[in-house]
Amino acid sequence: MKNKETNLVRGGLQRSQFKETSEALFLNSGFVYDSAEQAEAIFKGEETGYQYSRYANPTIDTFEKRLALLDGYEDCFATASGMSAVFGSMMCQLRTGDHVISASALFGSCRYILKEILPKFGIEVDFIDGRDLEQWKNKIKKNTKIFFLETPSNPCCEIIDLKGVCDIAKENNILTIVDNIFATPVLQSPIKYGADIVVYSGTKHIDGQGRVLGGAILTSKQFKEETLKPFLRHTGPCISPFNAWILLKSLETIQLRVNSQSDNAFEIAKFLESNSNIEKVNYPFLESFKQNDIAKKFMSKGGTIMSFKIKGDKEKTYKFINNLKIFDITNNIGDTKSLVTHPATTTHRVLSEEERANLDITDNLVRISIGLENIEDLKQDLDQSLSKS
Ligand SMILES: *Cc1c(COP(=O)(O)O)cnc(C)c1O
Repeated sequence: MKNKETNLVRGGLQRSQFKETSEALFLNSGFVYDSAEQAEAIFKGEETGYQYSRYANPTIDTFEKRLALLDGYEDCFATASGMSAVFGSMMCQLRTGDHVISASALFGSCRYILKEILPKFGIEVDFIDGRDLEQWKNKIKKNTKIFFLETPSNPCCEIIDLKGVCDIAKENNILTIVDNIFATPVLQSPIKYGADIVVYSGTKHIDGQGRVLGGAILTSKQFKEETLKPFLRHTGPCISPFNAWILLKSLETIQLRVNSQSDNAFEIAKFLESNSNIEKVNYPFLESFKQNDIAKKFMSKGGTIMSFKIKGDKEKTYKFINNLKIFDITNNIGDTKSLVTHPATTTHRVLSEEERANLDITDNLVRISIGLENIEDLKQDLDQSLSKS
């Protein structure tokens, strides 16, 4: 195995007979066989070969191999979106009567799956404060199968002790699934602390340029072959080879982008913290962030995203968002363009008012994702808008 930077540009590379430099895009649904006998042998698994892109495709394979190398997992299954990765990673293994424990600070759609969909199939879910290890321990029952968590969380950047949670899971024969989307594979490696499965939205930092949807589930070879693959192959949340190709090429620059964007974000977080129109900034690497110590233990940088509270009400907060000139108003994250979101009315709208209050997602909370623009331009933009609101 080579070093990270080399794997990011060469990992999984399989050149066709034409010896193209860049990875080829196999934008096709099916594959042909030399004979009926060969088709039979491939379907039986006696001979290796591609059958159908819902099962496997050379471009998708290359993306999966490259991402697995980056994360340190043995294997990967790419999916159509981050949400199909989250849903598939759970549904492939759960059955009626099982129990799941989840941190409550979650992305809105993840919470919807756990709160509204799983219970319809007779799967029990308990939500806890993921920062408190005692709560993970105390909620375990005989039928607990999965721990699910997101760290840092969207949008308040709550940090979970990955090692602590994975240790408890291992002692109790429970699988841990980590949504590592905010941290990215560049800044945090959950496998080091014992996470069994990691899920990504390719849509966010992996693409990082706002073009395609995609997702991925990273795990062991055995789990992929025995549990994940049969479920995903037959239910079909597969990624398009075109999207996989875009994501594959994006992996070549992910380390450069995420590190630069994180450096910019840290500067912006310190800048916002010193502004008198701001009540509070949530950014893992700020000294003032209450879980700063633990964030530094698991992450190499503080990430590209932060949230903060404007002094004032919803109206004043909207005014601030509307007066920004460089930041685009959108719900995406991880882009090379800086983006701004009002979580309470968009990404976290499906939560009840009480749930939002518990997670500190108030009407004056703003989330920003920092891109690759000039840092002084970004500061100036934030400053001019804050002084108007
Ligand atoms: C965006 C996001 C998802 C879902 O990913 P999609 O590609 O949009 O389906 C899941 N979890 C978190 C934390 C996210 O930010």
